[in-house]
Amino acid sequence: MGTRSIGHRERLGRSGKWVVKVGSALVTDGGRGLDTDRIRGWTDQLAALRADGRGMTLVSSGAVAQGVQRMGWRSSPRELFKLQAAAAIGQSGLVHAYETAFQRHGLQTAQVLLTHDDLSDRRRYLNARTTLRTLLELGVVPVVNENDTVATDEFRFNDNDTLAALVTNLVEADLLVILTDQAGLFDADPRMHSDAALISEGRAGDPHLETLCGGGSSGRLGRGGMLAKVQAAAKAARSGAATVIASGQEPDVLRRLARGESLGTLLLPSREPMAARKQWLASQMQSRGRLWLDDGAVRVLRERGRSLLPVGVTRVEGGFHRGEIVTCLDRNGREVGRGLVNYDAREARVIQGASSDRIEQLLGYVDEPELIHRDNLVLT
Ligand code: GLU
Repeated sequence: MGTRSIGHRERLGRSGKWVVKVGSALVTDGGRGLDTDRIRGWTDQLAALRADGRGMTLVSSGAVAQGVQRMGWRSSPRELFKLQAAAAIGQSGLVHAYETAFQRHGLQTAQVLLTHDDLSDRRRYLNARTTLRTLLELGVVPVVNENDTVATDEFRFNDNDTLAALVTNLVEADLLVILTDQAGLFDADPRMHSDAALISEGRAGDPHLETLCGGGSSGRLGRGGMLAKVQAAAKAARSGAATVIASGQEPDVLRRLARGESLGTLLLPSREPMAARKQWLASQMQSRGRLWLDDGAVRVLRERGRSLLPVGVTRVEGGFHRGEIVTCLDRNGREVGRGLVNYDAREARVIQGASSDRIEQLLGYVDEPELIHRDNLVLT
């Protein structure tokens, strides 16, 4: 490995926001029941990285596998309703195990269950994004899983690798770490080729990598497989994140990655993170409306990186909903930026020009003091 890649590893190791995904086989000791020793091991590391100032989000599979084990079933049921029942049974045990382990470090956890629908509906998307980011700001470690109990087949993420990638986009993490029962991505199937070599670095989204995944067969317990992981890396790269696929059995794997050690397969985004993030936010959807700003608002946005408050808005155009993208314009109609708006067009017209402490009086409620929070705003 050349010095360039060591540089990437070190930079990412120090980076501020991580999403860590652990798979079913690891969490449940191959389906034999929750592996509390391993869970303690990962939570110790997550707590250490959190204490070091990083925002850490955990995406954990294992609800179905744990439910199946608790019910004494010999294998995962095929019927969706039984799978959903198993997930409901297993999820409470899963979260309890994490909560107990994090409490040893005085850390709070939060259970976040998401469905595909939550991320395709604009308002729910914005709520999920705001809640997760708030949890991270509060120093809490969110423990995320798919809401398997309600997710219907056509609206499933399909696997938690995809879910983890979308959570990476949602919180705009720098790094997605996918912990699995393999050391990483190999240039041939290591089960069939003893000389298969680990790929230590590649480009996320490189189509060649998909051909190395052996048809993407899923594990016996989880739904992912290596193909899903490589595809998840491509999705994570859309918001500028890098992905590491590494073995969750490797001692101290997260702390060692944080030190820049070359473990597993690192898949880098092809675009510089900030540019990718901007493009990602802009591509989320078309702009649905326009907010005309006064000079003061333009200045605080541009020069001080602040949120857009209703007081700085002079005119509202369009028929947007909360959570949609709107364009901000200066008094000459030049674009200043784009962002996810916290109020719909009707509400925005009512509160435009008013100070935030009057929102409640004008609308009868307050969703947020900002019209667009700075985290959801990209300057152009
Ligand atoms: N959400 C499923 C569970 O917790 C796992 C999906 C996957 O295997 O990736 O059991």
